[in-house]
Amino acid sequence: MNPRELFYEDLETLRAEGRYRTFAELEREVGDFPDAIWHSPDGTRRIQLWCSNDYLGMGQHPKVLEAMETTLRARGAGAGGTRNIGGNTHQHVELEKELASLHGKEAALLFTSGYVSNLAALGTMAANIPDLVVFSDSKNHASMIDGIRSARVDKVIFPHNQFKSLETELIKAGSRPKLIAFESVYSMDGTIGELERFCDLADKYGALTYIDEVHAVGLYGREGGGKSQELCLAHRMDLIEGTLGKAFGCLGGYVAADTLLVDWIRSKASAFIFTTALPPYIAAGALASIRHLRTSDQERSMIHERAETLRQHFRKARLPFMEAQTHIVPLIIGDAVKTKQVSDRLLKQHSIYVQAINYPTVPKGTERLRFTPTPLHNDAHMDHLLEALQECWRTFDLPRVA
Ligand code: PLP
Repeated sequence: MNPRELFYEDLETLRAEGRYRTFAELEREVGDFPDAIWHSPDGTRRIQLWCSNDYLGMGQHPKVLEAMETTLRARGAGAGGTRNIGGNTHQHVELEKELASLHGKEAALLFTSGYVSNLAALGTMAANIPDLVVFSDSKNHASMIDGIRSARVDKVIFPHNQFKSLETELIKAGSRPKLIAFESVYSMDGTIGELERFCDLADKYGALTYIDEVHAVGLYGREGGGKSQELCLAHRMDLIEGTLGKAFGCLGGYVAADTLLVDWIRSKASAFIFTTALPPYIAAGALASIRHLRTSDQERSMIHERAETLRQHFRKARLPFMEAQTHIVPLIIGDAVKTKQVSDRLLKQHSIYVQAINYPTVPKGTERLRFTPTPLHNDAHMDHLLEALQECWRTFDLPRVA
């Protein structure tokens, strides 16, 4: 088959299944978040964002912007090279020290995104620890899966949070080196990994623990060190992976661990070694964001209050949302085409932007709208969202909870 025919047919299939992705062209305005401007086909329009992963609005926080601006003016735009060749700036080193301290670890290592940090760290461990078996939760993120896959290591995918099944597989692996990879907050369901049980099994069978805290850093724990900090389990995690792109409002990823492991990954991971470092001003902005959230609990308590308020609204309206104790509130529609129709109607008729989430991000039949209320979503935003959803539920005759 001509490759171009394949490209065309693949896209046609996605369209027919309602899974073809369109991106809304948005511009956020500092000071107005969660409002934004939508460059619609008919001109620009004000809309409200309901699915941003800038969970706390730190992407527009004055301290973050000031740190970025000052560093940008003083140090320029790019890092100018890989960390190894001229790109290792003071800002990177300071940020790594802060991240290590945030997680109570000896060291940390920066990457250009959370995706890259999982790909690099898991991939490097899986490829270089002889005879390793990796145990990976079935709901782990694509970046973890890609890291494991890239290593062609022996792997066991165990059902989400199913410890009996995990233990059976750990026993089968006998004396081979083992690594258990899991997340703390699962971003599409808003559920939480049972961290203590992972640690207990890891202790019992001598496995390394690898936790992705991408949707928890900044948001949970006394200083925003994630669920492992909140549950006082950080010392039982061999490696903590996180992002600077979500609650910290910037860009980049990292791992935190003991000095030996971090030094080893730094020395072996291609995705760290062979790429230009993050711009210093990004590192400075992220540092300001982390420092702020380590001392201020206000944003954290507000986001959890807002998420609970939204859940209460959904409960009252008998909308089929997934119950979870996190800041993520998924509303299940269960059909790709209908989910897209609701998402489109919310945007066009009600100026509300919430992207449709479909397969392969979530299993078929569980297509959903994923709401991420922030501390900046006020009661008026919530009332408007509720009215809009009620209208959509009536228009498309969607089921409610009994
Ligand atoms: N890990 C998880 C669980 C994620 O959901 C994501 C992104 O959404 C990543 C890693 C990648 O992080 P980043 O967006 O910083 O690349």
